Amino acid sequence: MRPARGQNGTNPTGAPGPRLRPRLWSVRILWHTVGDGEFFCPDCGGDRNYQRRTGRRRLTVLGIPLATRGTAGPVVECAACQGHFGTEVLDHPTTTRFSAMLRDAVHTVALAVLAAGGTSSRTVTTTAVATVRAAGFDDCTEDQLVALIEALAADTGRFLTDPVDETDPCGAALAIELHEALEPLAPHLAPAGRESILLQGARIALADGPYSAAEREVLSTVGGALSLCADDTARLLAAARTPS
Ligand SMILES: [Zn+2]
Repeated sequence: MRPARGQNGTNPTGAPGPRLRPRLWSVRILWHTVGDGEFFCPDCGGDRNYQRRTGRRRLTVLGIPLATRGTAGPVVECAACQGHFGTEVLDHPTTTRFSAMLRDAVHTVALAVLAAGGTSSRTVTTTAVATVRAAGFDDCTEDQLVALIEALAADTGRFLTDPVDETDPCGAALAIELHEALEPLAPHLAPAGRESILLQGARIALADGPYSAAEREVLSTVGGALSLCADDTARLLAAARTPS
């Protein structure tokens, strides 16, 4: 059996017996919790509780804390695996938050396309409902979507299908909504994921025939808010028109 070893390693004198000498000196970090919450742990690979901690380094001689040797952290400590991470790990949304962002993004895109193309075509509204349901709003109905579009029209004073205002082709309020829903999501999505959101909007617009000018305008705004370049957006919108 190997003799147990202390933190200070071997017994340098080579004296017999497993007796351990106390470590002469060490630097210990005393951690203090300054906050907590839920985050996506990159080590566990899931949503976990965390504690945000800062520390003070203490020089310890023969187990007695003597002097402060500066601060440590702040770090984010996973409650499950005790892993320590930089605070930038909190920029990554939890999977719960990410799913909600994705669902809201599709819902906002569907509303924007309906606002641009109008709600008079049954094919368009049923496609929109199917898209929004597939994104996670299981109990979404046509009546709900139409009511939201009417509220939006009442709010902005017009439907986007009204004659295009050259100074405000997409509807400033709608453009802001799209940017707020899509921009925070874009950095966390692979290109295919961002393209998929645009294509879901395109399929709603195409349900009753080719894109109208207003629909094309809205979908271009969607592409931009998803950090897709104008060329890619145009290519994807053209590809969506070609029946597979
Ligand atoms: Zn963890």
